[in-house]
Amino acid sequence: MIPYGRQSISEADIAAVVDVLRSDFLTQGPAIPKFEQAMCAKVGAQYGVAVNSATSGLHIACLALGLGPDDLLWTVPNTFVASANCARYCGADVDFVDIDPVTQNISVTALAEKLRTAERLPKIVVPVHFSGQPCDMKEIAILARQYGFKIIEDASHAVGATYFGEPVGSCQYSDIAIFSFHPVKIITSGEGGLALTNDAALAEAMVMLRSHGITRDATRYEQPDRGPWYYEQQMLGYNYRMIDIEAALGLSQLGRLDAFIARRNQLAARYDDLLSGLDIQKPKVLPNRLSSFHLYVVRLTVRDADRHRRVFEKLRADGVGVNVHYTPVHLQPDFQRLGFAPGDFPEAERHGATAISLPMYADLSDEAQLTVVNSLINALGE
Ligand SMILES: *Cc1c(COP(=O)(O)O)cnc(C)c1O
Repeated sequence: MIPYGRQSISEADIAAVVDVLRSDFLTQGPAIPKFEQAMCAKVGAQYGVAVNSATSGLHIACLALGLGPDDLLWTVPNTFVASANCARYCGADVDFVDIDPVTQNISVTALAEKLRTAERLPKIVVPVHFSGQPCDMKEIAILARQYGFKIIEDASHAVGATYFGEPVGSCQYSDIAIFSFHPVKIITSGEGGLALTNDAALAEAMVMLRSHGITRDATRYEQPDRGPWYYEQQMLGYNYRMIDIEAALGLSQLGRLDAFIARRNQLAARYDDLLSGLDIQKPKVLPNRLSSFHLYVVRLTVRDADRHRRVFEKLRADGVGVNVHYTPVHLQPDFQRLGFAPGDFPEAERHGATAISLPMYADLSDEAQLTVVNSLINALGE
């Protein structure tokens, strides 16, 4: 089976992990700050807080921004459930904004209209850079100032992407950006995530929240320092720490990021070419954006549930590990129980009912890509 995504692990990546295994620290050693600093330097952000997953990163980002039980967070339905669950972990309510049919990112028109007519305004909006294409961050940032909400970029797909020449993660148009290093994403640390920000107070809060809400910085103690063993829990935090083994892998992978992005873009251009003339909607990258192409998603032009399933199953039967990104989050049973229903977000629903993610990863060979293309052409012709 050709998978839809998978990691690329080099001998140097393996050696980096083995070095940690032979060192004094498996966790909380020197690799974590090295990885954080290297990632900050790469994207041009001031602070990076490594965590054990992007899901954890989204959670502590919401907490650092003060999201609580009387608050509201908005995101898109066309995403992984974690983009919405972060609000629920904080006891806050979640609502969705429909997507743009071309980019499948948050629709700025829909966002502006929802803000204009809202009875309750969101405290946080989470734009998701779907498939690695940056959202319209300039426009979203203008709305944030106008309506007073904070922005957390779910940049899980977009490590290595750029927006008007600036790397995603620089937080030029957001408060916090979150990366994921799950093996199907652009670079991997096994499991892992990183929260980026240019705000010292947010970074400090997230450093405490990832480790039990504890500080060992004597200058910050609320009570008298009782001795060299002393530490203080100053808020309720979690064990969301990344470990050194993961950070060493992430750091080694970061050195390969540019090559990964180049190869993914090369594969995308080749898909565009090989799939031309077919009755499908292909990804469209807008001007002034470099997509990291975490995903290459095509859409059937006619919404027909039976045909969608037949094409999908034909590809799988040929050994092509296609997937669907995403079944809209609001249609998950656990979200329908909150009151969401089919029809609430038509563009996201149309997308989920027509989308097929083709295999896309740095080590996908030209030959394997041709197999995918031929299988898709056959499936569409039947
Ligand atoms: C993968 C993903 C996440 C969660 O990442 P983890 O590191 O697995 O927790 C969140 N949001 C989006 C959009 C993702 O694709």
